[in-house]
Amino acid sequence: MHELGVVFHVIDNVKEVCAENNLTQVSSVTIQLGKVSAVIPSYLKDCWKWAVNREELMKDCELVIEPIEAITFCEDCKQEYDTIKHGKICPHCGSEHTYLLQGNEFMIKEIEAC
Ligand SMILES: [Zn+2]
Repeated sequence: MHELGVVFHVIDNVKEVCAENNLTQVSSVTIQLGKVSAVIPSYLKDCWKWAVNREELMKDCELVIEPIEAITFCEDCKQEYDTIKHGKICPHCGSEHTYLLQGNEFMIKEIEAC
């Protein structure tokens, strides 16, 4: 995922919410970001700073990132484990029959108006 594209996507969503709720200024936006979502938080923040200052209603709006742990489930031994540490292979039984339970999220959680 390209960070700038992600930022524009978030800004579009925020603008929609503002229009629906007659908000004129947004002070912060909280997003939940999975640890294996392919979006790099530091790049995201850089893009954010640049992009929000082009939007009248989002000037100096803060971006809050809430990380979501990446957890994988093993179909063979029915256990969960940390995806970042072990990847696709189950550390309990060595199986490759695993799938990601969470950690790929990208969601807007909260929009705070001034
Ligand atoms: Zn296993």
